[in-house]
Parts: sequence; structure tokens; C-alpha cells
Amino acid sequence: MARIAFIGLGNMGGGMAANLAAKGHDVRAFDLSTDALDRAVAAGCQAAASAAEAVAGADAVVTMLPAGRHVEQVYEGDVFAHAAPGALLLDCSTIDVDTARRVAAAAAARGLAAVDAPVSGGIAAAAGGTLTFMVGGADDAFARAEPFLSAMGKAVIHAGGNGAGQAAKICNNMLLGASMVATCETFNLANKLGLDAQTFFDIASRASGQCWSMTSYCPVPGVGPETPADHDYQGGFATALMLKDLRLAMEAAGSVSADVPMGEKAAELYQKFADDGEGGRDFSGIIKMLEAGRG
Ligand code: NAD
Repeated sequence: MARIAFIGLGNMGGGMAANLAAKGHDVRAFDLSTDALDRAVAAGCQAAASAAEAVAGADAVVTMLPAGRHVEQVYEGDVFAHAAPGALLLDCSTIDVDTARRVAAAAAARGLAAVDAPVSGGIAAAAGGTLTFMVGGADDAFARAEPFLSAMGKAVIHAGGNGAGQAAKICNNMLLGASMVATCETFNLANKLGLDAQTFFDIASRASGQCWSMTSYCPVPGVGPETPADHDYQGGFATALMLKDLRLAMEAAGSVSADVPMGEKAAELYQKFADDGEGGRDFSGIIKMLEAGRG
């Protein structure tokens, strides 16, 4: 079993660190929040007094932080200075591709292997150990990272070199955001044309309009499997997080001059929904904004 530093024990990191500890790893945990740290200790981790203390002597360093600036700050401030030679760095946060590549290059310059390994799946999947990891990094770094990630997830996929995990994550979520808006506006139109929502679902889910946003995550209450729509759009994937990923996608698209008109429109609509004070609501709740004629 390995000694693992885990930095960032929030909604996602708390469950992930607990799963590593449950698999028998010696997890040295750190978070700026003492509440988060206390929860990790209750779940079997050892509390570290600082990121530096967590990192010292660790075989692997896992970070699960809000954004690129936090990752860069923790890497530059503590990880690079205190990581043991040969330690493996795994950043599971969702961050911008450029920062992911920059920190990996800075790690390599210090002789440390690094992977970006963002996740698909929410808080329940983090707690249940059923996340999907999309990993960017060299083949040997991926091979070393895979057992740690498998202890926290159900699927670990090598997307390519450093930054490819983040690229896969934001491309997937841009598609998800755009397809959810399309699903919502389609059910709105179907309703206004006099179609019963369940009947339209039964037809479209077996026809060429079929997509995950409809068949697995239908935004209409009472239609399809149970989803946040059946709970007034509570729980699930918060609009604020979808908006974060869409912004990262727009930033990445700009940096490589990719034309992403549907992604841009989805970002604009989710910004409007968040500005309405709905940032905490599940992202499928945007159907309400469209029904109100505010698309
Ligand atoms: P969160 O805000 O709940 O947790 C982040 C934690 O990092 C907090 O506990 C905070 O105190 C800690 N932190 C911040 N700066 C720190 C520092 N310098 N040193 C130590 N700790 C520090 O966020 P989350 O929901 O756990 O998300 C984490 C990452 O996972 C984000 O990048 C997010 O986009 C991504 N993600 C989240 C979800 C989700 O459903 N919540 C799903 C997929 C991916």
C-alpha cells in the first residue's frame, strides 16, 4: 500500500480520499477548511498540518481543487518543494488545458511525473468510488496512476499526453451542455405543438434524436428514468459547474481558433440561467427558463 498526499477534501475530494483510505492506503490529507479535514479524518485519513507536510514522503500526490490557479499555487507553493524524488502527481481537478500542460512541464523539469485526471460523475460517484477518469500524461505515468485512480473509480481512460484529460473533459461537457439545451427546447416545442411529453420521449428515444440528455437525464418531470427534474431540479450537476466547464471550453476553443457556435450559445444561456440566481440548480432546470420564453 502506498503513502498518498490528498489535497482538497471538498464535495468530491472528501469521498475520493475516503475511498483511497478504505482500500488500505496511508492517506495524508490536507484542506484549508478544518471541517473538510475533520471529515476526512473520520473517514480514515491522517490529518496533515499543511500541504507541505502531506506531500513530504508521499509516493503519490492527489489534488482535487476548484480551479487552475489553486492547482498552480499548491504545486508551485508546496508540491514541487516537498515532493519526494520519483513521486507521482495526479491532479483530478477540472482546470484549463494550458495550466494542466504548464504544471506538468514544471513537474517534468523537476524530475516528477504528472498526469491530469479530471473526472466525470458527481458527488455520489466520488463517494461511491464509481467515477470515470480521463487521463492525460505519458504512457509510463498513466501506468503508475491507473491503480490509484481505479481505487476511486469504475473507469480509467488514457486520453493522450498531458492536458488531454482536461481536453476530453471539457469537450464532453460542452457536448453535454449543448445537447441538454437542445433537449429542453425540443420538449418545449413539442409541448407547444400539442405533443404529450411521454409520447414524444417514447418516439424520439427510439429515433434519430436520441441522446443521453433525453434518455438518461430527461429534463421533463415524470418522463424517463428518475432524474433531478423529478426533484424540482435539486441535486445532480449544478448549473454553476456546467457554466465553469463551458467557460473552460470557450477559452480552449479560443486558444486553438476552433469554431464552436453551439457551445458558445450554450455558455450564453447557462450564464443567463446562473444570473437568474439558479447557479445551484441542476443544469437540466434550464428548461424552465426556455418555457418562460427567456431563451
Ligand atoms: P469544493 O469547492 O467542494 O472543494 C474544493 C476544496 O479545495 C475545498 O474544500 C477547499 O477548501 C479546498 N482548497 C482550495 N484551495 C486550497 C488550497 N490552496 N489548499 C488546500 N485546500 C484547498 O469543490 P468540488 O465540488 O469538490 O470540486 C473539485 C473539482 O472537481 C473542481 O475542479 C470541479 O470542477 C471538479 N468536479 C466537480 C464535480 C461536482 O459534482 N462537484 C464533478 C466533476 C468535477
